[in-house]
Amino acid sequence: MAQHNLPSPSRESRSGEYREWTDPYNSFNSLKGLLYRDWMEGILKGEFLPPVEASIDPVYSCNLDCVWCNSHGILKNGSIKGKKMTTKHLLDLCRFLGEWGVKGACFAGGGEPLLHEGCAEATEELAKAGVESAFLTNGINLEGDAAEAIVKYSRWVGVSVDSGSRDNYSKIKNIPPEFFDRVVENLAGIVELRNRSGSKLEVSYKFLIHPDNADQILPAAKLAKEIGVDYIHARPAASENILGGADCALDFPMDIVNEQLSKIFELQDENFKVFGIRHKFSPRMTLKKNFCSCLAAPLLIQLGADGNCYLCVDHRGKPGFIIGRHEPDPKQILEFWGGKDMIDFMEKVDLEKCPRCTFGIYNEIMEKVLVEDRMCMSFP
Ligand code: SF4
Repeated sequence: MAQHNLPSPSRESRSGEYREWTDPYNSFNSLKGLLYRDWMEGILKGEFLPPVEASIDPVYSCNLDCVWCNSHGILKNGSIKGKKMTTKHLLDLCRFLGEWGVKGACFAGGGEPLLHEGCAEATEELAKAGVESAFLTNGINLEGDAAEAIVKYSRWVGVSVDSGSRDNYSKIKNIPPEFFDRVVENLAGIVELRNRSGSKLEVSYKFLIHPDNADQILPAAKLAKEIGVDYIHARPAASENILGGADCALDFPMDIVNEQLSKIFELQDENFKVFGIRHKFSPRMTLKKNFCSCLAAPLLIQLGADGNCYLCVDHRGKPGFIIGRHEPDPKQILEFWGGKDMIDFMEKVDLEKCPRCTFGIYNEIMEKVLVEDRMCMSFP
């Protein structure tokens, strides 16, 4: 059967091979891209709107060493290793994003965002500026002021645990097993804080599937439910980032992966949801590209800890993908955003050299829905 071009909104893929969710109205359904029609049409016309989202990397360092890290180039070797925004600049950036009209800001990583001491203050600043915030963190420092600010101000926090046991965690993250206990404690702590405060924060247990942790999906889901998080989000690690080439593929033990992913759905109840995201990948969970050009990148701005803005999250930290600077003054962004140089830059992107494209299905939507009108837009 031919690969589907867009994810089915039904509970299973169109081929019936696997289930990704039981409720299509969720954050991981890439049909969400249809919500961004105004932004996409602006890009196609060369009249860019401010991005929907900003991805902020406050610091280029990490306290773990995951086997699949897609930021090894940044964290281990590159000239930007260890770079960190000043807290003043981070706060200026948050204010600017609100004035510019950005809707959401995610603190994430080419590193571990909570290694930056300014995150709690920045989260509050974003809230004051009318920007929703979110965190992707390894959970080791998810405590104290940072945890309180996240509970008070953020929309969601995803904690990359990626395992269901101490020994496996230790092996895949190159860290003593005690850190697994600490992350689980921090997760339980933030759930409790959220429950007590009545905040709308969504807390998730993130699980990046790799051949070395494939048998951990079910134990992880059981633990996640026990802790009381809202959901577990499992998806494949990017082969091309680990093996160093767009045509490389990890050899996932698909029998184990499919069995475990299917069993975790039995744990679902009204308080605990399961997402096993597969539609962005081939059936063997490797790279899939069903688009011809880079169009969707300006839905997001990637703000590096080194003061550079990169074309997209997947090329963060790479000198060849710098589109401008946000430091020292974030307003510099307005000088290049949507300008001729940025448009030319996007036109020259060689898709063969792109790793997994986080916005791949948004690129498909722009080509197949907006340009080719395959969904007959004038007929609801
Ligand atoms: S990965 Fe490639 S196609 Fe995707 S947004 Fe980045 S540059 Fe564009």
